[in-house]
Amino acid sequence: MIREPLVFVATCEIAGRVRGKGFPLKDLKSRMKSGVGWVPTNTMISCFGPIADTPFGATGDLILVPDESTRVEVDFGDGTAAERWFLGDIRLTDGSPWECCPRHFLKRALAELDEVAGLQLYSSFEQEFMLESVEDRPGAPYSLDAWRRQGSFGETFIAAMRAAGVEPDSFLPEYGARQYEVTCAPALGVTAADDAIKVREMARATANRCANRATFSPILDPNGTGNGVHIHFSFRDRAGRPATHDPAGIAGLTTTAAHFMAGIIAHMPAITAVTAPSTVSYVRLRPNRWAPTFAYLADRDREASLRVCPVLSLPGVDAGKSYNVEFRVCDAAASPYLALGALVHAGVDGIRRKLPLTPASGVAAMSDEAREATGIRPLPRTLGKALDALEHDAAAKEWFGTTYLDAYLRHKRAEIRMLDGLDEAEQCRRYGASY
Ligand code: GLU
Ligand code: MG
Repeated sequence: MIREPLVFVATCEIAGRVRGKGFPLKDLKSRMKSGVGWVPTNTMISCFGPIADTPFGATGDLILVPDESTRVEVDFGDGTAAERWFLGDIRLTDGSPWECCPRHFLKRALAELDEVAGLQLYSSFEQEFMLESVEDRPGAPYSLDAWRRQGSFGETFIAAMRAAGVEPDSFLPEYGARQYEVTCAPALGVTAADDAIKVREMARATANRCANRATFSPILDPNGTGNGVHIHFSFRDRAGRPATHDPAGIAGLTTTAAHFMAGIIAHMPAITAVTAPSTVSYVRLRPNRWAPTFAYLADRDREASLRVCPVLSLPGVDAGKSYNVEFRVCDAAASPYLALGALVHAGVDGIRRKLPLTPASGVAAMSDEAREATGIRPLPRTLGKALDALEHDAAAKEWFGTTYLDAYLRHKRAEIRMLDGLDEAEQCRRYGASY
């Protein structure tokens, strides 16, 4: 059959789904400038498909312009069309950034981090997902048997990631039924969020070619295991030197890094609306799931919102370089641009206001009174509550701007209405079909 190569350019907006448009590869040169047509209301397309509410109506024109640095060209060598696509920026027709472009939201946050503290963010998304057609058997967690049952998915997936320009770090069978986890090398700035999208899409692309399906939905069964997205991050100064660790600092952090963490904790209720943006995200964020339920930073605690990761004390390991903190309140219903952007905006606010960091320890064993006395607040228990916190966080209004914040709240509140009256199992099923 005759065939002509195509290219796709995509974005990942409020719904956290990767969407865009395609064109013939032969037009790539001009399309790198002019992009493809996009419309403001596209950002209101829910993860389920329909648009329930939009402040933009049917008007307005935008362009979605590919970013050369994000190029994906992966030929699986099985006769299927190559995965050939770019991630892009949403711009006005004069080429300036659109105020509701998620990538721009992150770029603005990173620019402020540089301006306020002379720092660059170095980060990596650790992502969990389930492979639908893998057989689940008792005793599977971390087992070689569960590892084997994914067949050649893992090897193809890792090859696809590498071909897409992301350096794989690990692939493993996780705790839950049919659950696997993938990690990749950290990257600077926006690239880490681009990489998170590439990793998800390479998992989906690989599964698609293996007659399987990879789902990253926050939780598939209310009584089961959640799929977390853990964001590991550290800082570099303008010269590229590590700037996170101070052995004498609070929680082993430099003064600036400690303020950054305090900013995240201060804004945690609002951030949660962005990083855990589905109704079932709050089924995942419950006790005994190794998912956070309270807003605090702790050393090596997997129920902490911010976990200071261990550094090996082995010869040749440079603690300054590998010191990193993990944000655990995120899942894959979130656009990586918005999730990372919200973290950085909140952290920058902590640096600006020189907020003090009080690390916690032994939180799981504390009584409610003891926890309250130490100022440790619970995370919002529902998406609705998180959205209310976002709406009333004065700083978050600045991060988003009035138009984007209004669009975000309307999008997510309409999503809650779409699920009205459905029990948790059915909500999990709906999201599972989408993510
Ligand atoms: N599955 C857990 C979550 O939902 C995380 C388990 C782990 O620590 O890797 O975040
Ligand atoms: Mg894990």
